[in-house]
Amino acid sequence: MKYVSTRGTAPELDFGAAMMTGLARDGGLYVPAAVPQMAPADIAALAGASYEDAAFRVMRPFLGDTFTDDEFRALIARAYAGFGHAARAPLVQLAPNHFLLELFHGPTLAFKDFAMQLIGQMMQAALAKSGSRITIVGATSGDTGSAAIEAFRGLSNVDVFILFPHGRVSEVQRRQMTTPSESNVHALALEGDFDDCQARLKDMFNHFEFRDAVGLAGVNSINWARVLAQVVYYFTAAVSLGAPHRQVNFTVPTGNFGDIYAGSIARAMGLPIGQLVVATNQNDILHRALTTGVYRTEGVRPSISPSMDIQVSSNFERALFDALSRDGAAVAGLMADLRDTGAFTIPQGALEGLRAGFASGRCSEDETAAAIARTLETSGELLCPHSAVGVHVAEPYLGDVPMVTLATAHPAKFPDAVEAATGIRPALPPRMAGLFDRPERVTRVPNDLAALEALILERTGRK
Ligand SMILES: *Cc1c(COP(=O)(O)O)cnc(C)c1O
Repeated sequence: MKYVSTRGTAPELDFGAAMMTGLARDGGLYVPAAVPQMAPADIAALAGASYEDAAFRVMRPFLGDTFTDDEFRALIARAYAGFGHAARAPLVQLAPNHFLLELFHGPTLAFKDFAMQLIGQMMQAALAKSGSRITIVGATSGDTGSAAIEAFRGLSNVDVFILFPHGRVSEVQRRQMTTPSESNVHALALEGDFDDCQARLKDMFNHFEFRDAVGLAGVNSINWARVLAQVVYYFTAAVSLGAPHRQVNFTVPTGNFGDIYAGSIARAMGLPIGQLVVATNQNDILHRALTTGVYRTEGVRPSISPSMDIQVSSNFERALFDALSRDGAAVAGLMADLRDTGAFTIPQGALEGLRAGFASGRCSEDETAAAIARTLETSGELLCPHSAVGVHVAEPYLGDVPMVTLATAHPAKFPDAVEAATGIRPALPPRMAGLFDRPERVTRVPNDLAALEALILERTGRK
């Protein structure tokens, strides 16, 4: 099983190397050279399996010989043991033929735990084999950072640095990043927005001397191993609703396009997904790109669904690569346009391919609040603002085919927005008690590459 870069010139890697590398050296993202297929009978056989067993069967063909079967089963078991729900990703019903996939029962109450807990286990196992040490640097709009810290805190072969936009994450999100006391955890509040955080992270990866000096590894949603972990719950949800004998549609609250891209991989493997609906908040670059064919950055407008406040949607490059018939040079050309002019135009044929693969919709701030209130009234379910964006965008697509909307975070992660919409202040689950009492540890950093690199070199004892 080989992985190739979306920009066509980085070396092909196996699964373990692609996981450790994150961003390819040509600036591209790794994707499988060919997507393994799951026959209808293999999909049908997932019915009744535990989440862990389904995870093993769905992911195994992507791993090559990075781990033995027994090792991989043990890593999966450890990754999901800390979840607060026996089903890991339970489905609840909102309305006739509309279901909510609750992805917020992990340790940091957002779907990113599914991927981060597993990649933490896999990286630790790979490092233990090789005896090497790495530095993980992540950029976060809120949820990735806490999920990464939760997955890597206290590991002896890893230092973890998380860049988050100062003042633009919720208090719960911030405290989840700033209260862990392990000395290998470093929360950095960057003076800028999430796109600045992502841009500085990319700069570090493109600065090979620094990258090699600190053993830089990435766990952002561009990491293929994270995408892969998210493929699993599309299978478990769809099989619960009758796949492979019946089609299922999904609506996905989207920012960096990682979660919905995982859905498109599930479909490419053979899962009968009808529609995959991209749901954006007012930062709607993806919806505009799919509707107009022009991908144009416009600056971020902070919203009540902050984990989707992005302008550059990194994983979209993977979908673009497929839509451009896997022409890495063509992808590199569009990305150069984006860098130089803040926009690119999707060629007509590729646009048609993308539109065949992905529907889309946008949800304003008022519509988000209204969806939270309406869903509570009609189903008793309290949604986080991101999940509410999904529910709002899904509604026009409801019909004969069951629709699954992904609930990407627990409402208690965003208590102010939920209370403003409903008058109810959602409580944190009991296992999170104490979050507001623990001391915070955070370093304010400028939006400056040299300053960031100096800090990381110093903290990791390389200078
Ligand atoms: C990260 C995140 C998203 C967006 O997911 P992508 O994979 O970046 O599209 C949506 N909702 C929540 C709560 C998140 O943390």
